[in-house]
Amino acid sequence: MVSKNSNFNKLFPGKTFARICSEKIINKVKSYRCRHPDRPIFMMTYGNTSHPIPHIVTQSIIEASNSLGHWESYSGYGEVTGNLELKKAISYSYYKENLGVNIEPADIFVSDGAQSVLVNLLELFSQDSLVALPNPGYPAFIEGTLLSGRRFINLNCLEKNNFIPHIPQEKVDIIYLQFPGNPTGAVATFEQLKQFVNYANENNSVIIFDAAYSAFIVTDGIPRSIYEIDGSKECSIEVNSFSKMAGFAGLRVGWSVIPQNLTIEDTVIGELNSLWEVRHEVKFWGACNIAQHGATAALSKPGFIECQKAIKYYLENASLVRKGIAALGWSCFGGINNPFIWVKAPKDMTSWQLFDMVLGKVGIVGTPGSIFGSCGEGFLRISALGRREEIERAFSCYW
Ligand code: PLP
Repeated sequence: MVSKNSNFNKLFPGKTFARICSEKIINKVKSYRCRHPDRPIFMMTYGNTSHPIPHIVTQSIIEASNSLGHWESYSGYGEVTGNLELKKAISYSYYKENLGVNIEPADIFVSDGAQSVLVNLLELFSQDSLVALPNPGYPAFIEGTLLSGRRFINLNCLEKNNFIPHIPQEKVDIIYLQFPGNPTGAVATFEQLKQFVNYANENNSVIIFDAAYSAFIVTDGIPRSIYEIDGSKECSIEVNSFSKMAGFAGLRVGWSVIPQNLTIEDTVIGELNSLWEVRHEVKFWGACNIAQHGATAALSKPGFIECQKAIKYYLENASLVRKGIAALGWSCFGGINNPFIWVKAPKDMTSWQLFDMVLGKVGIVGTPGSIFGSCGEGFLRISALGRREEIERAFSCYW
């Protein structure tokens, strides 16, 4: 008789992050609502976006959609690794013009957002690879690693290190890094990323760099891509997304970069890049063409400027949340170059106790830090990706 994949049993506690959020948090909110039917509740739990997509982008999506309705402009399957026009826009507008980094279109793979890729990339590496994961970290890293049946160690992101982990003390094969960080709101310096790149090159490890919030870095002198670090093309894969950058959370477009120079033990130059293309051919047949068209528009000069306005809106939200938390006498981190605010529990309070306290006092529903890993205990994540009115209503009487 066929039996189930026992790796599913390894998920803590048999459930995903999303399921824990939707069950436990929503149950708590429901019970709070029953006890206090007259009090407002502000959901600042999820990393979901609220700002509308710029008109110039939606217009191009409408055009692409309309073109499918005519014989002369209809197109079916596209390139499995992504529309060339979009890959050129990522290569030129995002990397070259925006960051001063050279990434060839051939090294770019368009995907249905970042999440699936972040997990699926593990398929490139042998089953016995040891994975290093930020703790606390974005849940897909640990859940994907557990489902893949691979071993892992923690890279602790602690307050005393400004939530930036130290390089691993032992030899690891794959290192997940994510900056700007979710949930801690941390951003890494050039120097800190350089240490990881040096470690990876010295130990033949591969860094999987999740840059999903790169657009939120508006302060000069902070790296927005791992490829801004010398030596990174020999050891790093970068994953990025239009979800937060351009409001594509529902449209689902992202990308990964596998540089030709990235080699591992038994591969030659360009081989990992080709293997990822094979994987796209076998398990993915390209992202939605209409959505890719919109993503290209988001990287056009006027599209980019409009998208930056939405980022500015979220960053102003974050600054208001920080101000509100300070007015309440609590301490917090993040929320600068990052849409997440990492609130610290007073004294020895747990994350769930802090969750209850913040809900009881302000009506804000955050996400307990302990959900993101043991080192997140004693913290609460508040997302500033929601609407300004909600934040203002929540904090106005404390400012
Ligand atoms: N990486 C991080 C850190 C995220 O917070 C998210 C989504 O919230 C993702 C990746 C996935 O984004 P996408 O919508 O592109 O799949």
